[in-house]
Amino acid sequence: MALRLRTVTGVLALLIAGGAYAQAQKYDLLLKGGHVIDPKNKLSAVRDVAIAGGRIALVAEKIDPSEAFKSVDVSGLYVTPGLVDIHVHVYTGTGEPHSYAGDNSVYPDGFTFRVGVTTVADAGGAGWRNFSDFKERVIDRSRTRVLSFLNIVGHGMRGGRYEQNLQDMEAKPAAEMALSHKDLIVGIKTAHYAGPDWTPVENAVKAGTIANIPVMVDFGSNKPERPISVLLTEKLRPGDIYTHVYSGLRDEQLESGAINPALIEGRKRGVIFDVGHGGGSFLWRVAVPLVKSGFLPDSISTDLHIGSMNTGMKDMLNVMDKFLAMGMKLDDVILRSTWNPAREIKREELGHLSPGALADIAVLRLQKGNFGFIDMYGARMNGSQKLLCELTLRDGKIVYDLNGIARPDWTTLPKDYRATGDPRWDAYAPRGRRPRPAGRTTR
Ligand SMILES: [Zn+2]
Repeated sequence: MALRLRTVTGVLALLIAGGAYAQAQKYDLLLKGGHVIDPKNKLSAVRDVAIAGGRIALVAEKIDPSEAFKSVDVSGLYVTPGLVDIHVHVYTGTGEPHSYAGDNSVYPDGFTFRVGVTTVADAGGAGWRNFSDFKERVIDRSRTRVLSFLNIVGHGMRGGRYEQNLQDMEAKPAAEMALSHKDLIVGIKTAHYAGPDWTPVENAVKAGTIANIPVMVDFGSNKPERPISVLLTEKLRPGDIYTHVYSGLRDEQLESGAINPALIEGRKRGVIFDVGHGGGSFLWRVAVPLVKSGFLPDSISTDLHIGSMNTGMKDMLNVMDKFLAMGMKLDDVILRSTWNPAREIKREELGHLSPGALADIAVLRLQKGNFGFIDMYGARMNGSQKLLCELTLRDGKIVYDLNGIARPDWTTLPKDYRATGDPRWDAYAPRGRRPRPAGRTTR
C-alpha cells in the first residue's frame, strides 16, 4: 500500500514538476541486463551499469531502473569498455595527395562510434612541425577522442621525400612538443624507413625517453644491417610497441614457419606487440601459426587509412573478429581492445568500467553464422562469429545507436513529436532545449 502511494505521488510529481522531478534521479543512464566484460576488473558476468555525470557510477547485479533518468535494456548483448584503437591514420583535410598527413587519412568519426571505438591514436601522421595543424584540423573538431603518436620525422608521414630524411628526425623538438601536449601525445612513432641506419629508431627512443612515453615502431623495409633481433633485444625499451606483428615482412616468422625467437625474447624484455592490420600488415599464413604457438598480440588495432578501410581490414570489429576466428576467447579479445591498449599508451583512465571512470562504453552483439575474413593478400578464412556494435557511449552520452534500442517507438509519441533525446544521455540532443509551441515550423 505504502509502495503504491509512493508511486502515485511520484507520477503526480512527474506531471506537475516535469524536468525538476527528472533531475532528482541518481543516475542519468542505466544499461540493464547486459553481459559485462571488463577485463581490468576481472569481470565477465551479467550486470547492470549505471552512469552519472559522464562517469561510471555503479556496476552491480541489480540496479533499480527508478533510480535512473533513462534505462536501456541491453540483455543478450555484451557491454564492454569503449574500444581503444591505438593505430589509425586520421590526419586528413590538408589537401596533400598520397600523404598520411593528407589524403591517405580519414576523418575519425565515420569509422569509430559505429564499431564501438571511442578512442583512437593517430600513428605518426604528424611530426613536431605540423602537430598544431593536426590538432586544430582534426583532434579539436572530432567527437572521437583522438590522441597521437608523434612522428620522429618533423614533417610527419608526408611521403618518401620527408620520411627518408635523417636530418629531420630530431629527438629534442619532438620530445618538447610531446611534453607541451601531454594530454594528447601518447607516444613517438617511427615508420616507413627504407635505409640501413638505426637513426630513426634511436632518435625515436631518445625522444620517448625525454618525454617518458613509449615508441611505436613500423620497422619499414627489411634490411640486413638492422635486423629485427637487434631491434627487439637491444634497441627498444620495455613498453615500446612493435606494430604490424603478423605482417611477415620483417622476419617475424622464420622460413620454417616457426616464430622468430627474437619476438619471444623481446616480449620477455617487456616489448609490446600490436596488430596494426592495415592494407599490408596481416597475413593468415603468419598470424595463424604464431597465434597457435601462443604468441598472441598485446593489443589489437586497425591501421585504418584509405588503403585499408575497404580491403581485408574493414574496421576494428573486423580485426577483433579475426582473432575470434583463430580461436581466441571473446574476453581475451576485449582485453586486447580496451584495457591493454589503454595501458600501453599510459591512459589508465580509459579501457575499463571502474566506478569513477569515464563512461566510454560499447554494447556489442555477437552474431553466429557463416562469415569470411580477408587478409592483406586477399586470402579468406572462414569464421562462425561476428561482432556488431549496437550502442556506443562516449563520456556517458549515447553517440551511436544502430537499431534505436535507446529510442522510443514513433507510434507511442504525440502526433506532432519533435526531437526526442535529452542531453542527460543523448550526445546529439540540443542543449537547453525547450518544448516548441505546437504548429511552429523551423528549418
Ligand atoms: Zn600505420
